[in-house]
Amino acid sequence: MNSILNQLDDLSERLAGLGEPKFRARQIVKWLFDSRVTSFAEMSDLPRPLRERLSQEFSLWSSTVLAHQRSSDGTEKLLLRMADRGDIECVLLRDGARRTICVSSQVGCAMGCVFCASGLNGVERSLTHGEIIEQMLRLSRLLPTDERISHIVMMGMGDPLANLPGVLGALAWASSPQGLGISARRITISTVGIPAAIRKLADMDCRYHLAISLHAPNDELRTKLVPVNAKIGIAAILDAAEYFFEKTGRRLTFEYVLLAGINDQPVQAEELADLLSGRGALLNVIPYNPVAGLPYRTPSRQAIARFREILQSRGIVIKIRQRKGDDINAACGQLRRSVASGALSIVSPEQAANS
Ligand code: SAH
Repeated sequence: MNSILNQLDDLSERLAGLGEPKFRARQIVKWLFDSRVTSFAEMSDLPRPLRERLSQEFSLWSSTVLAHQRSSDGTEKLLLRMADRGDIECVLLRDGARRTICVSSQVGCAMGCVFCASGLNGVERSLTHGEIIEQMLRLSRLLPTDERISHIVMMGMGDPLANLPGVLGALAWASSPQGLGISARRITISTVGIPAAIRKLADMDCRYHLAISLHAPNDELRTKLVPVNAKIGIAAILDAAEYFFEKTGRRLTFEYVLLAGINDQPVQAEELADLLSGRGALLNVIPYNPVAGLPYRTPSRQAIARFREILQSRGIVIKIRQRKGDDINAACGQLRRSVASGALSIVSPEQAANS
C-alpha cells in the first residue's frame, strides 16, 4: 500500500478528492510530525469515517523494523526493510544536548568507495522522499517526548546528490515549521562530490550545509579510494565547491576518512594543506571505522595527532570526528552487511514483544 508520507505535498488535494475540508491535511501532518502515533486510528481529532478511509487508502509506514540496536554510548540504529525487500540503515546519535540523526538516501550505493560497507554490492535504487521522511519520523519516535531532533546528516547509505529529488523533497519537510522544523543550517548533505549536482544546489540558493568527501589530496590516490573519481577529478569538485560558496555564501566542509598507512602520512597532510588553504573550508577528519572483511585500519593516535598538527600549522580549520556506536556496527552499511552475511542474528522489536 502507498505510504501517506509520499503524499504529503498534495495531501490537501487528495483529501479534497475524498470530499474533506483542507484543514484536515494540516491536522494529519501535525499528527505525523508532532506526535508518536503509529496508526491513523490514533488521530483522535479526525472523524472516525475519515480515519477508516485513510487506513484503507494509505499505510503510515512503508518499511518494517528488522533490527533496533542500542549502543552503550546512547547511539541507536535501525535496520529497515523496505516494501521491495531492500534494507537500509538509519542512526540516532546523542552528543551532549545534540540529537543528530543520520539518514540514508538510497538502497546501497553506486560510488564504490573501497573502505565503505554501503557500496560493496552496488546500488539497488534511490529512496522516495516519503521513505527518507519515514527514517526521520521513526528515529524521532525513539526520543523521550521532551526531546527533539536537533541535527540531520544525510550520511547514511547512498549518495544524496545522486538522488536530489528524493532528498530535497524530504529535507523540505524536515526544515519546514509544519514538519520537523529543523533549521537548514543544522542539516548536512554529504556527497562524494558530483559537480553538476553541487552547482544545481548552488543555483537553488541551497540553505543546507554541504560536506564533500575528499579522502585524498590527489587524483591518483582518490581514484583508488573513490573509484567514481576517475570520471570526475578533484579539480572539478573544487571548482564546484568554490561556485557553491560564492553563490550561497555558505562555507562547506571537506571530509577525510583517515586510513592507516594509506592517506594519513605527513606528505598527504602537506598536499591536502596546499589544496585547501585559502578556501575558507572546514576539514572534518574521520578516523576509519573498521568494516569486517576489509583490509583497512584505523590510524594510531599519534598518526592522527601528527596529521592534525600539520594541517593546523598551515592554517586549516580541522576537526577530528569522534567515532560513535562502535559496538553496534555504526559505520554506514555495516549493520545491513552483518545481518545479510548471517554474522549477526537479529530480533526485531515486534518479535521481541512476541517472545
Ligand atoms: N555518499 C556520501 C555519504 C556517505 S557516508 C558521501 O560520500 O559523503 C558519510 C561519510 O562516512 C563519508 O565521508 C564516507 O566516506 C564515510 N565513511 C564510510 N564508511 C566509513 C567507515 N567505515 N569509517 C569511517 N568513515 C566512513
